[in-house]
Amino acid sequence: LTDKLQNVFKKLRSKGRLTEEDVKIALKEVKMALLEADVNFRVVKQFTKSVQERAVGQDVMNGLNPGQMVIKIVNEELVNLMGSETTELPIKPGNDLTVIMMAGLQGAGKTTTAAKLAGKIKSKGKRPLLVACDVYRPAAITQLQVNGEKQGVEVFTMGDKQSPVDIAKAAVAHAKANQQNVVIIDTAGRLHVDEDMMQELADIKSNIEVDATVLVVDAMTGQDAVNVAQTFAEKVGIDGVILTKMDGDTRGGAALSIKSVTGKPILYVGMGEKLSDLEQFYPERMASRILGMGDVMSLIEKAEAAVDQEAAQEMSKKLKKMDFDFNDYLTSLEQMNKMGGISSILNMLPGVGSKMKDVESMIDEKAMDRTKSIILSMTPQERSNPGILNLSRKNRIARGAGVDVAEVNRLVKQFEQSKKMMKQMPGLMGGGKMGGKRG
Ligand code: GDP
Ligand code: MG
Repeated sequence: LTDKLQNVFKKLRSKGRLTEEDVKIALKEVKMALLEADVNFRVVKQFTKSVQERAVGQDVMNGLNPGQMVIKIVNEELVNLMGSETTELPIKPGNDLTVIMMAGLQGAGKTTTAAKLAGKIKSKGKRPLLVACDVYRPAAITQLQVNGEKQGVEVFTMGDKQSPVDIAKAAVAHAKANQQNVVIIDTAGRLHVDEDMMQELADIKSNIEVDATVLVVDAMTGQDAVNVAQTFAEKVGIDGVILTKMDGDTRGGAALSIKSVTGKPILYVGMGEKLSDLEQFYPERMASRILGMGDVMSLIEKAEAAVDQEAAQEMSKKLKKMDFDFNDYLTSLEQMNKMGGISSILNMLPGVGSKMKDVESMIDEKAMDRTKSIILSMTPQERSNPGILNLSRKNRIARGAGVDVAEVNRLVKQFEQSKKMMKQMPGLMGGGKMGGKRG
C-alpha cells in the first residue's frame, strides 16, 4: 500500500518540506481517484478536508518527512472511512439463538447471500436454519430450498399463504425445538424502497427478537446502493451491510461510502454467484484497492496526451467498423471527466475541432454523471450489444441507476445519434487517413 502511495506523493517527498499548497495539490490527485471510483462526492469532500487539516497541522507540529506523513494520514483516513476493523456478525455463543434478518431491494442478492451466510455459519460449528419469508415471488421459496440443500442447511417454509410474521414466529419455535441456533430469515424485496417493504420488515422485527438486520446491496449500482442503504438505515434500522456483486464492481465507490453515510459497517462482500463466493470485508484491503486505482490514475494523467491520442485512434477504428458500443461510450465519458470537458477530448481527435460543437452542447457535464450511472447499470453484455435492450432490461437499468426509464430511452437514442453523427465526420471516417498516420 505504502509503495503505491509513494508514487503518488513522490513529488511531495522531493520537496522535503510540506506547504499547505503542496498538500492541496497532492490531494487533488487523491480526490480525482476517489471520484473516479464513484465514491459519494460529499464523502470525498469531507475526506480530503480532514486529510488536509490533519496533514498541514501535523507537519507544523513535528516536521517529519512530509511525504510519509501525508501517506500515513491518507491511508488511515481511508481505513477509518470504512470502519477501521473487520466487523463480525453478532452470533451468540453456545446454544443461544441468534436471529438474522436479510433486507434489501429485489435482485440485490438476499436469497443467494442468505444461503452463502448459512454455509459460513455452519462451517463454524453452528446449526443454522434458513427461513423463506418471501411469499410474493413463487420462485423465491424454491430458490432458497435449492440453495439450502446445496449447503446442507434446513429450509423452513410454510408456502406462500401465511404472513411473513407468522412464518418467522413459527421458524423461531421450530429452531428452538430442533436445537438450531442461528435463524436466517430471507425476506421479500421490492424494486424500489417503499412503505410496504419497510412495514413488513418492521413487523417481523416487532414480533420476534431479531439480533441483526443485515442489508444486502448491489455494489454495481454504485451511488444508488449508498442511497438505498441510507434509507434502510433510517427507516428500518440495520446492523450491517453485505455488498454483493463486488466481482463486477471495479471501482469500489459504494464500499468506501457506505460506512460514512449510514454509520453501519460492511460485514461481507459477495464475489460471485457460487455459494462459496462470500468473503469477509477488510477495510485495509479495500483501501489498498482504491488507492491502487489512484496510483494508476495519476500515471494515466501523466501520460495523458499520449494515452488519449491512442484512445482516440482506437475509437475511430471502432467507429469505422461500427462496433462502437456503450463500453467505449463510457470510456470516452470518463476521459472527458478527467480532462475537464468534452472539448479537450474533441480537440485531440484529428480533423474534428469545432465541427463537434453540436455534440458538445448535447452532452452537458451535469448530465454526464447520470449517463455514466445508466451505463454502469447495464450488464457487460448490454453495454457491448445495445441491440438487446428491450423494455424489461431498460426498466431494470433505470432502477439500478435511479432514473426514469425515459432517461434510459433518451440515452440509447442519443447514443445511436452520436454514432451516426460521428460516422459522418470527415476527419474520422475520411478514407482511413488516420489509421495510416500512426500505429
Ligand atoms: P434477491 O432478490 O435479493 O433475493 O436476489 P437473489 O439472491 O435472487 O440474487 C439476484 C441475482 O444476483 C442472482 O442471479 C444471483 O446469482 C446474483 N448474485 C447475488 N450475489 C452475487 C454476487 O456476489 N456476484 C454475482 N456475480 N452475482 C450475484
Ligand atoms: Mg430473494
